Amino acid sequence: MTSTPSELHLVDFTNATPDTLQDQVISAIDAANAFLDAMPADSNISAKQALADVMRFDHMNLALDRSWGILSHLNSVMSNDDIRHVHHELLPKLSAYGTRVGQHQPLFSRYQAIVNDTEFFAALEPARARAVELALRSFELSGVALPKAEQEKFAAIQSELSTLSATFSDHILDATQAYALPLAQEQLAGLTESGLALLADAGEQYKARELASGALTQADIDALPTPYYVVSLNIPVYLAVMTHADDRNLRETLYRAYVTRASEFDTHSNAKGESLNNADIMGQILQLREQKAKLLGFDNYAEVSLSTKMADSVTEVETFLRDLAAQATPTAKQDLAQLQKYAQDYGIEELQPWDSAYIAEKVKQSEFSLSQEEIRPYFPLPKVISGLFTIVERLYGIKVQEQSESVSRWHDDVRFYQLFDADDTLLGGFYFDLFTRSGKRGGAWMSGFQSRYAYAEQDHEQLPVCFMVGNFTPAIGGKPSLLTHDEVLTLFHEFGHGLHHLLTQVTVGDVAGVNGVEWDAVELPSQFMENWAWDAEGIALISSHVETGEPLPTDKLEALLAVKNFQSGMQTLRQIEFALFDLLIHAHTPALDYDGILATLNSVRDDIAIMQTPDYNRFANGFSHIFAGGYAAGYYSYKWAELLSADAFSKFEEDGIFNPITGKAFRETILSVGGSFPAKTNFENFRGRSASIDALLRHSGFKHAKNDADKAKTTREVI
Ligand SMILES: [Zn+2]
Repeated sequence: MTSTPSELHLVDFTNATPDTLQDQVISAIDAANAFLDAMPADSNISAKQALADVMRFDHMNLALDRSWGILSHLNSVMSNDDIRHVHHELLPKLSAYGTRVGQHQPLFSRYQAIVNDTEFFAALEPARARAVELALRSFELSGVALPKAEQEKFAAIQSELSTLSATFSDHILDATQAYALPLAQEQLAGLTESGLALLADAGEQYKARELASGALTQADIDALPTPYYVVSLNIPVYLAVMTHADDRNLRETLYRAYVTRASEFDTHSNAKGESLNNADIMGQILQLREQKAKLLGFDNYAEVSLSTKMADSVTEVETFLRDLAAQATPTAKQDLAQLQKYAQDYGIEELQPWDSAYIAEKVKQSEFSLSQEEIRPYFPLPKVISGLFTIVERLYGIKVQEQSESVSRWHDDVRFYQLFDADDTLLGGFYFDLFTRSGKRGGAWMSGFQSRYAYAEQDHEQLPVCFMVGNFTPAIGGKPSLLTHDEVLTLFHEFGHGLHHLLTQVTVGDVAGVNGVEWDAVELPSQFMENWAWDAEGIALISSHVETGEPLPTDKLEALLAVKNFQSGMQTLRQIEFALFDLLIHAHTPALDYDGILATLNSVRDDIAIMQTPDYNRFANGFSHIFAGGYAAGYYSYKWAELLSADAFSKFEEDGIFNPITGKAFRETILSVGGSFPAKTNFENFRGRSASIDALLRHSGFKHAKNDADKAKTTREVI
């Protein structure tokens, strides 16, 4: 296989300049608008003709999905002023177009015509029928039934919201990048070799930036030592210091900087000299969301969010979270007591948030004789990747083949792979862009750039293609990138999303792969995949010491497994704190302002947290998931999906974790069908029953509090 088949429709990134993409986006919007202009309001249209029109319009949108998809992607992984400028300019246009589509009466009436012809609708393939249903619901949520004046108001809200969210994100990125703290030699105590390398790298970036901005001259730079150790707020650097630095003041300083990013305590400004404080933006976002909810006839925005999810109501989610918190609290208290006990040995009388990671690492080293750093040499990225491919081959019979050299990529570090079925049928393609670099958004994600889709009318076929992006430590000093076990989990997680996107057999784009899957179920395949990075057999496939080639030894493997649920009580409470906060600020009426946001955060902390948070902590100001991403009143989804994934994996625990028959069943009932059926149906088809919380409690190590009454209460049908 030396050339890529045309069904992959791969992007030529050398021609994907901001200007070209901007032109493509605008002309795609113009063409689609012209199509909508010409669509007659035909109230007697047949269902067959209506469907043909709908499919033709879907096909027109392909050009927009593609050009905008590339631009958004580049804005996330190769951000610079040009891309950001174009991205910002297009956002309101795109939002206006989206709103127009959502409120286009002739298009809406075509969907209604399809559904109203019950005989015709019943004969549609399930994926098409589901796509039509989802489209109708989304029409309702985009205000199509509103009177004209309110439709305009709705459109204005949408447009303003998308601009505010983008600004929120920019503020965090700018605040993160603006911070740099050069360190004195004595502050480096405790840092690991790889941590120091990260700080030295941050030092070089610091020098280059100071020189470019004119803050320092070349002579100033030359006078600085090499390596020059600088702390930044990029997450690998931040974690390296918080986990290992002996200097408690340094940890406190860095913690404060991190948790006050983009808040009223953040004194940085952007290139235009504007404040990076997100406070007002957060209040505005909540108020606009509330207005939007009211326009649509809901009581609050949380109800809008839940209307498209697997969970039924705010009460149901709140009960789930509070129940889980109750189950986790006894373990969390033990976790905290353990940290406090160890902290005494390090002269820390009162454990503070900036001590937690540091002391936890000490406990791990002492109790489990294991640190993430010791683990790193066993997980060279190339071995982890090849082992991951072996695992999915055994589970699903699929094969991966790298083809980076002949494929256009946006950066030299990027790799490209093709995915084949057992019978050598090409299933799709994916890119890995796994290393941290400046201009790349933090975190890790899978972007389902191109969906499986076929349109017979124009003889068009395309296979799924996705981007999997991470921020791992790059190869340093001639050694390959070495992952911590947490990073291994991240890779498995994103690959789980990737497989959901790539293994779909659905050719109706709107419900293919991850499309159309409820938000609170979309993390099922990703969290599910992580289980193989916890299993002895799985670990044997993905580990090989960078120098000796030996797989992770049994004692380290046992230590790793023993450490799996280390601090799981505290971590669960932390996730619940975020989820409950998110749910409640979106369920409040009337809309909250910044003071209200902080008040809600405090009351959630009072209810859930067992460790004091400093008053200045403005974690919410950097909570992109809910203010800039799609997780508003949906952050609970992680825990919800964890319940689903734990319960799904328990089937493999019963049948054997490489059981190909169970693998095939999972592929067929969950991965292949994507959003073409409700998640509840898919889950029940796989498990043969509704979901239960038992596996989650067992996997998390919450073994207590299992009297029958409690059990009956928490073993709800999770829907
Ligand atoms: Zn995920």
